[in-house]
Amino acid sequence: MKLVRFFNVLLSAVVLLSVNGCGSTSENEAGKAKYIFLFIGDGMGITQVAAADSYLAYTNGDQLGGQYLTMTSLPHFGLLTSYSANSRVTDSAAAGTAIACGVKTNNGSIGVDAEGNPVKSIAYQLHEEDYNVGIITTVPHNHATPTAFYANNVNRDACYEMCLQIPTSGFEFYAGSGFIDYRGRHNDLRPIDEVIEEGGYKVVYGLNEYDAEVKAGEKVVFCQESNKEESAGNYVSEGKLAEDVTLGQMLELGLKHLGTKEPFFFMCEGGKIDWTAHGNRTMPMIMDILEFDNAISVAYEFYKKHPKETLIVITADHETGGMSLGSGREVDWGLLVEQWERDNHKNNLSNEENRDLNRRASIGWTTGSHTGAPLPVFAVGAGAEKFTGLMDNTQIKGMILGE
Ligand SMILES: [Zn+2]
Repeated sequence: MKLVRFFNVLLSAVVLLSVNGCGSTSENEAGKAKYIFLFIGDGMGITQVAAADSYLAYTNGDQLGGQYLTMTSLPHFGLLTSYSANSRVTDSAAAGTAIACGVKTNNGSIGVDAEGNPVKSIAYQLHEEDYNVGIITTVPHNHATPTAFYANNVNRDACYEMCLQIPTSGFEFYAGSGFIDYRGRHNDLRPIDEVIEEGGYKVVYGLNEYDAEVKAGEKVVFCQESNKEESAGNYVSEGKLAEDVTLGQMLELGLKHLGTKEPFFFMCEGGKIDWTAHGNRTMPMIMDILEFDNAISVAYEFYKKHPKETLIVITADHETGGMSLGSGREVDWGLLVEQWERDNHKNNLSNEENRDLNRRASIGWTTGSHTGAPLPVFAVGAGAEKFTGLMDNTQIKGMILGE
């Protein structure tokens, strides 16, 4: 029943649009929150979220219900458009830039406008106003979404070069899986962590190293233990390594790292939702959404202690896979869960077996790529009521800043 309510409200939001035009974002509320959490589910369309809710309903014995996720339980939500400067279907670079910097750019570009001029992200803007900044992701630090918050480059593949902006950013905390092109694109440059450390940061691999080596007040780049001295480009595209620190644990570490320092801004990306959706891997994608939602719960616990001063906003950069929940028939979660158990929670199926499983379970996927489908926005806390109706991804920055 709760899922039905979720969609009814979504539908009302769509109907309201035609009356309200471009969303109700014009009025300036009382500035910005002291504690800001921005979550980006990479590739996370409305259907992906609804699928995770439906899966949880199934595992809770509630055959047709939903709304077990923290994000779908929040009081305010709306829809987001995501087209880029040169395409109706964006990539993570242009969408990340739109969310972080408030401007449309071409697919493939990071932190620059469509003419290639550098633009300032919300992270830099808040940092100048003495906010402490944390940039957190389940994928490499120099993947598109995190770089949109700290780097400026017309080419998202300039991964090594973009990392050189970590030390100059001065941001207090970075956490991610590791680095793409650890020794440069041609494997002929100095290890990127050495270069970052020279710039005044401590780079650590795993929680033990963090505990042993990071001094209070030190700026830090946290990486997964398994990525030490490795390029993380092809790092676990589907599923998760057992020893990995989760997104929620990384956010907890970020909060611990800041200690009593305030105000703060955290960007947390669920980056592998996109990767699993590219492969049309239903159960691994559900697991990535649950991991993402657990991190949202960490922020929500913080919000409950500081409800008047905290803003949590959750959105996505684009939809991946053209997913449908049911395809002619209703979804057979039993079949999907049975296979997932049989595979010991690993993504073992060949592409053909996976296609067949999706077909039999009535999960539709129309593409292995991105779509231009509208995206969800969920919000709670100080100023959260503004995040309703139809929004464009370029509005998120200004809305968080209370402009
Ligand atoms: Zn993608």
